[in-house]
Amino acid sequence: MPIVSSKTAPATGFDRHNHRRCIQHGVRFATHACEQAGLQLTPARQRVLEILLSEHRAIGAYDILDRLREDGFNSQPPVAYRALDFLVQYGFAHKIERLNAFVACSMPEIQHAPAFLICRVCSVVAETHPELNRGALGKTARDAGFVMEQCVVEVEGVCPNCR
Ligand SMILES: [Zn+2]
Ligand SMILES: [Zn+2]
Ligand SMILES: [Zn+2]
Repeated sequence: MPIVSSKTAPATGFDRHNHRRCIQHGVRFATHACEQAGLQLTPARQRVLEILLSEHRAIGAYDILDRLREDGFNSQPPVAYRALDFLVQYGFAHKIERLNAFVACSMPEIQHAPAFLICRVCSVVAETHPELNRGALGKTARDAGFVMEQCVVEVEGVCPNCR
């Protein structure tokens, strides 16, 4: 049985597909969302988003910096860090703490607490939203009188392609 069925989660990281559509969709959404919110999707921010969208792998800031450099962008680390901060702050990307790396959000149109399934072999990351506050963890928290505010789930394992 696959861990992630297409019914419960957009397992975009695990099925092979053409990423051009991921990039188009993600950039179009971010452009529109930034316009609506009066935010600036600068060329560097957009390029970093495209880099993240072109793979569903967690990518470290230094790799992103290398890619920016190849594209002729200003090669100072703050350029990459500021762009990543922006993308994470507004929900276009997430930081995977465990890997100290970043992935593009696969569902920026909806508010969600993401959970990540991380393949330890190929480092592909699939994002899912488990609604943990409704599941067993939520029940345990409620029973303990605990109010959950933030919940970051990073699960490491082996993806269907590497099994
Ligand atoms: Zn893709
Ligand atoms: Zn997300
Ligand atoms: Zn894998």
